[in-house]
Amino acid sequence: MNDMIRENLEIVKQNMRDACKKSGRDPESVRLIAVSKTKPVEDVQKAYQCGCRDFGENKVQELVEKYEKMPKDIRWHMIGHLQRNKVKYIVDKVYLIHSVDSVRLAEEISKEAVKKQVTVSVLVEVNVAGEESKFGTTSQEAVSLVEEIAKLPGICVKGLMTIAPYVENAEENRLYFAKLKQIYVDIIHKNIDNVCMEELSMGMTGDYEVAITEGATYIRVGTGIFGERQYNTV
Ligand SMILES: *Cc1c(COP(=O)(O)O)cnc(C)c1O
Repeated sequence: MNDMIRENLEIVKQNMRDACKKSGRDPESVRLIAVSKTKPVEDVQKAYQCGCRDFGENKVQELVEKYEKMPKDIRWHMIGHLQRNKVKYIVDKVYLIHSVDSVRLAEEISKEAVKKQVTVSVLVEVNVAGEESKFGTTSQEAVSLVEEIAKLPGICVKGLMTIAPYVENAEENRLYFAKLKQIYVDIIHKNIDNVCMEELSMGMTGDYEVAITEGATYIRVGTGIFGERQYNTV
């Protein structure tokens, strides 16, 4: 049972290599984030033993708990919606915050970063598909949001993130990944001070291969590594 994680990781890594080959990309240019949300620390440890060092969580409390229990060479990625009043708990623990979607949130991150004397790397989350249920700035506002955030101390914009719709056929999301890449290129051309567009965080279990062929530098895979998540419905 416990070898499921090892086997799943091998499958995902093989698929990553295949997608890179198909699109003529260097396999080193795409990094896998193991999304361990809702999963016990034992599962995180197993993936760590298999070589994973990038882990994604979507809740502050869970991230902090796992941070305390796990080795310090892990790069923790905050991938979920972040409330301003919780920013203070993670600014000095996270490697990258993927979910910045407002100036107000960025201001709070900046304030806490300055207080703790760290620089926090962030991605701006864009709701490229325009889904009502999702967080993220609109495609139209993404560039100006990046410009605003870039002015703040203690925070550095490293790229963009999107959560594509849930679809049966991953090909349906190709246009959204291409759209995020286009916004990213537009921002690069603007040469904004304090912005180094390097990362495109896109692609999950159902669609990471398509995301890689469209230029993802980070893919976020949960179910494909750890299996289905159980949510408490009571
Ligand atoms: C849960 C989650 C993932 C992983 O989803 P899977 O479909 O299980 O791979 C990726 N990104 C974000 C933002 C998530 O919340």
